[in-house]
Amino acid sequence: MSAESPIIDDNLRKYIDLVGYNESELLKRNREETQKLGPLSIMQVGAAQGAFLSIICKVSNFKSCLEVGVFTGYSSLCIGSSISDESKLTVIDNSAEYLDIARKYWKLANIDKKIDVIESHAMDALSELKDRNESKFDFAFIDADKANYCEYYDLIVSMMTSGGLLCIDNTLWKGRVYDSDNHSSSTKAIRALNEKIKKDKRVDHAIMTIYDGMTICYVK
Ligand code: SAH
Ligand code: CA
Repeated sequence: MSAESPIIDDNLRKYIDLVGYNESELLKRNREETQKLGPLSIMQVGAAQGAFLSIICKVSNFKSCLEVGVFTGYSSLCIGSSISDESKLTVIDNSAEYLDIARKYWKLANIDKKIDVIESHAMDALSELKDRNESKFDFAFIDADKANYCEYYDLIVSMMTSGGLLCIDNTLWKGRVYDSDNHSSSTKAIRALNEKIKKDKRVDHAIMTIYDGMTICYVK
Protein backbone atom coordinates (compact mmCIF):
# COMPACT_ATOMS: atom_id res chain seq x y z
CA MET A 1 0.00 0.00 0.00
CA SER A 2 1.44 3.36 -0.99
CA ALA A 3 1.72 6.65 0.87
CA GLU A 4 -1.56 7.78 -0.68
CA SER A 5 -3.43 5.72 1.92
CA PRO A 6 -4.70 7.86 4.81
CA ILE A 7 -4.77 4.74 6.99
CA ILE A 8 -1.18 3.69 6.64
CA ASP A 9 1.40 6.37 6.01
CA ASP A 10 4.91 5.30 5.10
CA ASN A 11 6.36 5.73 8.59
CA LEU A 12 3.55 3.76 10.21
CA ARG A 13 3.95 1.06 7.59
CA LYS A 14 7.68 0.84 8.24
CA TYR A 15 7.10 0.55 11.98
CA ILE A 16 4.49 -2.18 11.51
CA ASP A 17 6.88 -4.05 9.23
CA LEU A 18 9.54 -3.79 11.93
CA VAL A 19 7.63 -5.04 14.97
CA GLY A 20 4.02 -5.69 13.89
CA TYR A 21 4.05 -9.40 13.02
CA ASN A 22 6.22 -12.41 12.34
CA GLU A 23 5.91 -13.87 8.87
CA SER A 24 6.79 -17.51 8.16
CA GLU A 25 9.40 -18.30 5.53
CA LEU A 26 6.69 -19.67 3.25
CA LEU A 27 4.52 -16.56 3.53
CA LYS A 28 7.59 -14.43 2.88
CA ARG A 29 8.36 -16.49 -0.21
CA ASN A 30 4.77 -16.12 -1.38
CA ARG A 31 4.90 -12.33 -0.89
CA GLU A 32 8.20 -12.11 -2.79
CA GLU A 33 6.91 -14.20 -5.69
CA THR A 34 3.73 -12.13 -5.78
CA GLN A 35 5.71 -8.89 -5.89
CA LYS A 36 7.20 -10.09 -9.17
CA LEU A 37 3.72 -9.71 -10.70
CA GLY A 38 4.22 -5.93 -10.49
CA PRO A 39 1.64 -3.34 -9.40
CA LEU A 40 -1.05 -6.01 -9.18
CA SER A 41 0.72 -7.36 -6.11
CA ILE A 42 -0.95 -4.68 -3.98
CA MET A 43 -4.07 -6.88 -4.13
CA GLN A 44 -2.40 -9.15 -1.58
CA VAL A 45 -3.49 -8.76 2.05
CA GLY A 46 -1.06 -7.03 4.42
CA ALA A 47 1.23 -9.18 6.53
CA ALA A 48 -0.21 -7.96 9.86
CA GLN A 49 -3.67 -8.57 8.44
CA GLY A 50 -2.67 -12.11 7.49
CA ALA A 51 -1.38 -12.61 11.02
CA PHE A 52 -4.69 -11.35 12.37
CA LEU A 53 -6.65 -13.78 10.16
CA SER A 54 -4.42 -16.61 11.39
CA ILE A 55 -5.03 -15.73 15.03
CA ILE A 56 -8.81 -15.54 14.74
CA CYS A 57 -8.83 -18.88 12.92
CA LYS A 58 -6.65 -20.45 15.61
CA VAL A 59 -8.83 -19.34 18.51
CA SER A 60 -12.18 -20.01 16.88
CA ASN A 61 -12.04 -23.64 15.78
CA PHE A 62 -13.94 -22.93 12.55
CA LYS A 63 -15.14 -26.05 10.75
CA SER A 64 -16.16 -24.75 7.36
CA CYS A 65 -14.46 -21.68 5.93
CA LEU A 66 -14.96 -19.77 2.70
CA GLU A 67 -12.68 -17.39 0.84
CA VAL A 68 -13.80 -15.36 -2.16
CA GLY A 69 -10.75 -13.93 -3.94
CA VAL A 70 -7.64 -16.10 -3.62
CA PHE A 71 -5.03 -14.36 -5.80
CA THR A 72 -1.67 -16.05 -5.16
CA GLY A 73 -2.85 -17.57 -1.91
CA TYR A 74 -1.53 -15.46 0.96
CA SER A 75 -4.74 -15.15 2.99
CA SER A 76 -5.78 -18.74 2.21
CA LEU A 77 -2.37 -19.89 3.51
CA CYS A 78 -3.04 -17.98 6.75
CA ILE A 79 -6.55 -19.39 7.13
CA GLY A 80 -5.79 -22.92 5.91
CA SER A 81 -2.74 -23.29 8.16
CA SER A 82 -4.69 -22.12 11.21
CA ILE A 83 -7.76 -24.37 11.02
CA SER A 84 -7.71 -27.97 12.19
CA ASP A 85 -7.00 -30.89 9.85
CA GLU A 86 -10.68 -31.86 10.03
CA SER A 87 -11.82 -28.40 8.92
CA LYS A 88 -12.41 -27.33 5.32
CA LEU A 89 -11.64 -24.18 3.38
CA THR A 90 -13.62 -23.59 0.19
CA VAL A 91 -11.99 -20.99 -2.06
CA ILE A 92 -13.34 -19.22 -5.13
CA ASP A 93 -11.39 -17.38 -7.82
CA ASN A 94 -11.89 -17.02 -11.56
CA SER A 95 -8.19 -16.83 -12.47
CA ALA A 96 -6.55 -20.15 -13.34
CA GLU A 97 -3.20 -18.41 -13.46
CA TYR A 98 -3.38 -17.10 -9.88
CA LEU A 99 -4.88 -20.34 -8.57
CA ASP A 100 -1.93 -22.27 -9.97
CA ILE A 101 0.45 -20.16 -7.89
CA ALA A 102 -1.75 -20.55 -4.80
CA ARG A 103 -1.92 -24.34 -5.29
CA LYS A 104 1.85 -24.58 -5.25
CA TYR A 105 1.95 -22.89 -1.83
CA TRP A 106 -0.92 -24.95 -0.36
CA LYS A 107 1.08 -28.03 -1.24
CA LEU A 108 4.26 -26.65 0.28
CA ALA A 109 2.30 -25.79 3.44
CA ASN A 110 0.76 -29.25 3.36
CA ILE A 111 -2.75 -27.83 3.58
CA ASP A 112 -3.91 -28.72 0.05
CA LYS A 113 -6.17 -31.52 1.31
CA LYS A 114 -8.19 -29.09 3.41
CA ILE A 115 -8.91 -26.82 0.46
CA ASP A 116 -11.75 -27.17 -2.06
CA VAL A 117 -11.20 -24.97 -5.09
CA ILE A 118 -13.99 -23.51 -7.20
CA GLU A 119 -12.56 -21.88 -10.31
CA SER A 120 -15.39 -19.67 -11.45
CA HIS A 121 -16.94 -16.22 -11.33
CA ALA A 122 -17.77 -15.73 -7.66
CA MET A 123 -21.41 -14.87 -8.35
CA ASP A 124 -21.97 -18.19 -10.17
CA ALA A 125 -20.06 -20.14 -7.55
CA LEU A 126 -21.91 -18.60 -4.61
CA SER A 127 -25.32 -18.94 -6.27
CA GLU A 128 -24.59 -22.58 -6.93
CA LEU A 129 -23.44 -23.19 -3.36
CA LYS A 130 -26.63 -21.55 -2.12
CA ASP A 131 -28.87 -23.54 -4.51
CA ARG A 132 -27.29 -26.77 -3.32
CA ASN A 133 -28.39 -25.68 0.13
CA GLU A 134 -25.87 -27.86 1.90
CA SER A 135 -23.18 -25.29 2.59
CA LYS A 136 -23.03 -23.59 5.92
CA PHE A 137 -19.91 -21.58 6.73
CA ASP A 138 -18.76 -20.46 10.15
CA PHE A 139 -16.02 -18.26 8.71
CA ALA A 140 -15.83 -16.32 5.46
CA PHE A 141 -13.42 -13.81 3.95
CA ILE A 142 -14.56 -11.65 1.02
CA ASP A 143 -11.74 -10.18 -1.06
CA ALA A 144 -12.69 -10.40 -4.75
CA ASP A 145 -13.98 -7.77 -7.19
CA LYS A 146 -15.43 -4.83 -5.30
CA ALA A 147 -18.31 -4.00 -7.69
CA ASN A 148 -20.14 -7.15 -6.59
CA TYR A 149 -19.45 -6.81 -2.86
CA CYS A 150 -23.10 -6.24 -1.86
CA GLU A 151 -24.26 -9.33 -3.75
CA TYR A 152 -21.46 -11.49 -2.33
CA TYR A 153 -22.23 -10.22 1.15
CA ASP A 154 -25.94 -11.11 0.95
CA LEU A 155 -25.34 -14.54 -0.53
CA ILE A 156 -22.67 -15.34 2.06
CA VAL A 157 -24.59 -14.05 5.10
CA SER A 158 -27.45 -16.33 4.03
CA MET A 159 -25.04 -19.29 4.10
CA MET A 160 -23.41 -18.52 7.45
CA THR A 161 -24.09 -20.31 10.70
CA SER A 162 -25.33 -18.31 13.64
CA GLY A 163 -22.24 -17.30 15.61
CA GLY A 164 -20.08 -17.27 12.47
CA LEU A 165 -17.59 -14.58 11.50
CA LEU A 166 -17.48 -12.79 8.16
CA CYS A 167 -14.50 -10.58 7.24
CA ILE A 168 -14.60 -8.20 4.29
CA ASP A 169 -11.43 -6.65 2.95
CA ASN A 170 -10.70 -3.16 1.58
CA THR A 171 -13.73 -1.54 3.18
CA LEU A 172 -11.91 1.79 3.63
CA TRP A 173 -10.54 1.68 0.06
CA LYS A 174 -7.67 4.09 0.76
CA GLY A 175 -10.18 6.63 2.06
CA ARG A 176 -12.04 6.87 -1.24
CA VAL A 177 -15.25 5.76 0.50
CA TYR A 178 -15.45 9.08 2.33
CA ASP A 179 -14.27 11.21 -0.60
CA SER A 180 -17.58 12.54 -1.93
CA ASP A 181 -15.92 13.38 -5.26
CA ASN A 182 -15.03 9.74 -5.91
CA HIS A 183 -17.67 7.95 -7.98
CA SER A 184 -15.82 4.91 -9.32
CA SER A 185 -17.90 1.76 -9.47
CA SER A 186 -15.73 0.02 -6.88
CA THR A 187 -15.90 2.97 -4.49
CA LYS A 188 -19.68 3.21 -4.89
CA ALA A 189 -20.08 -0.52 -4.27
CA ILE A 190 -17.91 -0.53 -1.13
CA ARG A 191 -19.65 2.60 0.17
CA ALA A 192 -23.03 0.93 -0.45
CA LEU A 193 -21.90 -2.21 1.37
CA ASN A 194 -20.63 -0.23 4.37
CA GLU A 195 -24.00 1.54 4.62
CA LYS A 196 -25.87 -1.73 4.15
CA ILE A 197 -23.90 -3.45 6.93
CA LYS A 198 -24.49 -0.50 9.28
CA LYS A 199 -28.27 -1.11 8.89
CA ASP A 200 -28.12 -4.91 8.80
CA LYS A 201 -29.79 -6.37 11.89
CA ARG A 202 -28.39 -9.84 11.06
CA VAL A 203 -24.86 -8.90 12.11
CA ASP A 204 -22.81 -7.00 14.68
CA HIS A 205 -19.93 -5.29 12.93
CA ALA A 206 -16.77 -3.26 13.30
CA ILE A 207 -14.68 -1.59 10.61
CA MET A 208 -11.06 -2.04 11.53
CA THR A 209 -8.35 0.35 10.30
CA ILE A 210 -6.02 -2.52 9.47
CA TYR A 211 -4.21 -2.26 6.13
CA ASP A 212 -6.89 -1.01 3.67
CA GLY A 213 -9.74 -1.44 6.16
CA MET A 214 -11.35 -4.74 7.04
CA THR A 215 -14.88 -5.12 8.37
CA ILE A 216 -15.58 -7.97 10.74
CA CYS A 217 -19.19 -9.14 11.08
CA TYR A 218 -20.48 -11.44 13.78
CA VAL A 219 -23.47 -13.27 12.30
CA LYS A 220 -26.26 -13.41 14.89
N1 SAH B 1 -7.03 -12.58 -0.70
C1 SAH B 1 -5.98 -12.47 -1.68
C2 SAH B 1 -6.13 -11.27 -2.55
C3 SAH B 1 -7.31 -11.32 -3.47
S1 SAH B 1 -7.14 -10.23 -4.85
C4 SAH B 1 -4.61 -12.50 -1.00
O1 SAH B 1 -4.50 -12.63 0.21
O2 SAH B 1 -3.60 -12.37 -1.67
C5 SAH B 1 -8.66 -10.44 -5.68
C6 SAH B 1 -8.86 -11.76 -6.37
O3 SAH B 1 -10.21 -11.80 -6.79
C7 SAH B 1 -8.01 -12.00 -7.63
O4 SAH B 1 -7.29 -13.20 -7.52
C8 SAH B 1 -9.01 -12.09 -8.77
O5 SAH B 1 -8.69 -13.10 -9.73
C9 SAH B 1 -10.27 -12.48 -8.02
N2 SAH B 1 -11.51 -12.06 -8.70
C10 SAH B 1 -11.78 -10.85 -9.23
N3 SAH B 1 -13.02 -10.84 -9.73
C11 SAH B 1 -13.54 -12.07 -9.51
C12 SAH B 1 -14.79 -12.68 -9.80
N4 SAH B 1 -15.76 -12.00 -10.41
N5 SAH B 1 -14.99 -13.96 -9.43
C13 SAH B 1 -14.01 -14.66 -8.79
N6 SAH B 1 -12.81 -14.13 -8.50
C14 SAH B 1 -12.58 -12.85 -8.86
CA1 CA C 1 -7.79 -7.14 -0.60
